[in-house]
Amino acid sequence: MAFDYDLFVIGGGSGGVRAARIASGEWGAKVGLAEESRMGGTCVIRGCVPKKLMVFASGFPGIFEEARAYGWEVGATRFDWTAFRTRLESELNRLEEAYRNTLKTAGVTIHDTRATLVDAHRVRLASGEEFSAKHILIATGGRPFVPDIPGAELAVTSNEMFHLESLPKRALVVGGGYIASEFACILNGMGVEVSQYYRGAQILRGFDDEARGHVANAMQASGVDIHCGTDLMRLEKTEGGIRAVATDGSEREFDLVMYATGRRPNVENLGLDGLGVEIGRKGQIVVDRFSQTAVPSIFAVGDVTGRINLTPVAIREGHAFADTVFGSKPTAFDHELVASAVFTQPELGSIGLSEEAAREQEPIEVYATAFRPMKTAFIGKPDRVMMKLIVSKATRKVLGCHIVAPEAGEMIQLAAIAIRMGATKEDFDRTCAVHPTMSEELVTMRKPVRTI
Ligand code: NDP
Repeated sequence: MAFDYDLFVIGGGSGGVRAARIASGEWGAKVGLAEESRMGGTCVIRGCVPKKLMVFASGFPGIFEEARAYGWEVGATRFDWTAFRTRLESELNRLEEAYRNTLKTAGVTIHDTRATLVDAHRVRLASGEEFSAKHILIATGGRPFVPDIPGAELAVTSNEMFHLESLPKRALVVGGGYIASEFACILNGMGVEVSQYYRGAQILRGFDDEARGHVANAMQASGVDIHCGTDLMRLEKTEGGIRAVATDGSEREFDLVMYATGRRPNVENLGLDGLGVEIGRKGQIVVDRFSQTAVPSIFAVGDVTGRINLTPVAIREGHAFADTVFGSKPTAFDHELVASAVFTQPELGSIGLSEEAAREQEPIEVYATAFRPMKTAFIGKPDRVMMKLIVSKATRKVLGCHIVAPEAGEMIQLAAIAIRMGATKEDFDRTCAVHPTMSEELVTMRKPVRTI
């Protein structure tokens, strides 16, 4: 049977774009891709990229302060949100165009509209037009989840944060994950009074406990008012803003309330009902290690599959899918030992097991240090950075590495290479330090602080 396309991709985000580009550009498949919103998806348009630019923008007050302490004369400073937002918007336009051109160059046909599945080999566009495809890839990503509390409609999510008309004076961030903690720091850096409510005992659940505590302390010291064990009960519109009524009995007024309480896979109204594609407990599309669903012609990659919701993971899943199906190179992306960074201030870079997870697994040694880095100790700032290695007693392999420091994201990328190669503590020790740096501590920690 002749199909209109060898591959039809639904979703033009990180995973879908990579899969389409490789299938078409590298392997010569005839590929169509539908995207209902802006090309580039969450990462480029309303996630990692604009977020990181906001992180940069929010870091300048600290830089000005340090510059003064180092002897620079710094004049009056003021942040112009509108100027930043305008530049941000043009950067996103540029990136969106770059994504579009990449697809075009690779020979992919772009449909700027919503597509849904009709059956295992057919998709329908919002216009009513239908195409047959030998393979269909679902790469529709996810969207913010907001709990159903009274007044929830008064809150915004990360989606809206890049389009604010003006910066609020007082903001409440709800949640304790990556997004909540990053935006709490961003807004704080931009001069907003920030409170963060988190229902659990400590923010950043899932990360190493010591690292979480270190980040939370640093955030608090820099002015973020973190309330753990506190959740929102309702929001009410007031004359001056939004009243937030919380489980700790408090009622406080804010100008902006941002929810960052997790994300949900985009599977609704996709035409999946009755097709035989399995949907998991968290609403995700269930796939095997080759990203294939229970229906052989339908695959899924990225956040919609809820494996590890990170852009580089979606990209690797999309690439592996294209190599497997169109390049005759069966490739399964290995989800073990994926490093990540939380762009709080300071950043948290992490790979492998936390101390808590590792000690459940096997006997371990813990190497850790916290110290005042040279750059800020010089000007009397109390900031501390933290480096931590979790080592298997039996194999001596480094099972986990956790860094809380400025640029920890950059550092963990490099540590990740060694750790993925199976480096032992002795391999770290044999590596001569680069001096004077913060990360030299990773190769100079001689004695374990704990043996468990
Ligand atoms: P996370 O899953 O990281 O965090 C969700 C937070 O919301 C948790 O603190 C959770 O609490 C809380 N929460 C969940 N449901 C409720 C509820 N009903 N009421 C109150 N609180 C609730 O999600 P994010 O939205 O922060 O980010 C989504 C994903 O995006 C991340 O998991 C990550 O994979 C990715 N991401 C990665 C980034 C990076 O690499 N730097 C940056 C941003 C996002 P609890 O802990 O108690 O469950």
